[in-house]
Amino acid sequence: MLGQMQDWPLRVSRIIDHAARYHAGRAIVSRDGDGVVRRATWAGVRDGALKAAQALTRLGLRRGDRVGVMAWNTARHLELWYGVPGAGGVTHSLNPRLFADQLVYIVNHAEDRFLVYDADLEGVVAAIAPRLETVEAFVRIGETDAPRIDALSYDALRDAEDADFAWVEGDEGEACGVCYTSGTTGDPKGVVYSHRSNVLHAMAMIQPDMLGLSSRDVLMPVVPLFHANGWSTAFSAPMAGAGMAMPGRNLTPPALFEMLEQGVTITAAVPAVWLGLLDHLRREGLRFSTLNRVVIGGSACPRAVIEAFQRDYGVTVLHAWGMTETSPLGSFASLKPEVAALPPEARLDVQCKVGHPPFTVDLDLRDDFGEPVAWNGESRGRLVIRGPGVLKRYLKAERDATDGAGWFDTGDVATMDALGYVRIVDRTKDLIKSGGEWISSIDLENVAVAHPDVAEAAAVAVAHAQWGERPVLVVAPKPGAAPTRAALLAHMGRHFAPWQLPDDVLFVENLPHTATGKLSKLTLRRQLEAQGYRLPSA
Ligand code: ADP
Repeated sequence: MLGQMQDWPLRVSRIIDHAARYHAGRAIVSRDGDGVVRRATWAGVRDGALKAAQALTRLGLRRGDRVGVMAWNTARHLELWYGVPGAGGVTHSLNPRLFADQLVYIVNHAEDRFLVYDADLEGVVAAIAPRLETVEAFVRIGETDAPRIDALSYDALRDAEDADFAWVEGDEGEACGVCYTSGTTGDPKGVVYSHRSNVLHAMAMIQPDMLGLSSRDVLMPVVPLFHANGWSTAFSAPMAGAGMAMPGRNLTPPALFEMLEQGVTITAAVPAVWLGLLDHLRREGLRFSTLNRVVIGGSACPRAVIEAFQRDYGVTVLHAWGMTETSPLGSFASLKPEVAALPPEARLDVQCKVGHPPFTVDLDLRDDFGEPVAWNGESRGRLVIRGPGVLKRYLKAERDATDGAGWFDTGDVATMDALGYVRIVDRTKDLIKSGGEWISSIDLENVAVAHPDVAEAAAVAVAHAQWGERPVLVVAPKPGAAPTRAALLAHMGRHFAPWQLPDDVLFVENLPHTATGKLSKLTLRRQLEAQGYRLPSA
């Protein structure tokens, strides 16, 4: 017997309809391309999205066509976030910080027919335009003094429309957006989200133990919408009726602080952003007026950052884990009652883990033979994941990326405890194997950045004749500080056995980062090689 309830396809257009209908006037504060901070509303964003959909349809967009969007977090970007799938298209979010060759590869691979971009990215787009094989029209958001591309004007196209448009309806399983993995190991791979996966993932994310969003919140994604589906923020905020603050391209600590003071209650970014902001707050003696929680993920959040936010600023840290392939959020370190009851230090230990999954996400551990690993908080295994927001197959791949039971191997090594809290030990490829024992690069880095003179630190393996691999630590000191090798090793010696300590400590002004603001171990390894270090083979 079938249920007899209504058929209501889970399409993302319904999210913006809901926000515009029931939370019409909620503010979207946006630092636009010209640097000016303006206020929009959900009703206004929906109106713009309808016009964008109308304009794209007039340009010839057909159902399923990919539209490249290379833009900072602004209200305009939100219009396209809903306008493209609302017109039946598929948003392909492009990270302008990728190498030109990578951008060319992914635009050609996804077969983008249109490319919409922020005017200040004219140079980035112009540099790749001649090699783009499928793009038929370029659309520029905002003005540029030095046009290098024969592009249409987004504002002119949009303002010529009247918003008399009906969202394209269809199956909830249709594609809605594409995001490519960063390609740290080979060519980037396309992850194709469906309307359904985005809606279900957003519903899971607004739950109290995850983002915990309500209409009383104002969410500011510092994480760009082009990084891993924007961590769901542009779907979950309007779904919850929350307001948003969109910080635009200027992510310097003073600019971020100014935007946070626009009533923001919750914000999200990778750890590197918060290291910079905390330093700025301390030096300027600033305090937040409305911020009460901060989501930190994308790479391991140092304990010192969690501690500083909570102890010095009264802001709760939600340490989260996820990946492009998982929509992206898979777990949040919110406090179950057993954890909330712990003394502060023990509670902090749990917050350094990446937490537990929401309904719709299944997490587990496997050993090298595919057998389950015990959830005892000690035993390490490969973290595997499954659920309706988890990748099944990469774009144009010939085989599924999952095993027979639907599990996707994350490439992370983790432990799980009896309460289901996951601790990321390391990425498989970043673990340092010394004399048959594994050393976690994340553990070394976290302890190093807890030293008061250290701004950032990265640990990588170098080849060693006797031990196979040994750790080398590369440290960026805080401005004006000059930590010594001996002081650092003494500090780290309090947390590690002697064999786990780095053989070498090198000091640099800045560490290299990836296009999404994470430490780039790939670049770092190349730099070490250039300095004469031998890298482990494969
Ligand atoms: P990229 O390869 O560009 O970093 P993703 O953003 O999809 O692509 O990265 C996903 C990976 O980031 C995860 O597999 C994991 O290794 C790492 N990661 C994400 N969040 C955390 C976290 N909170 N702690 C440790 N590692 C994390």
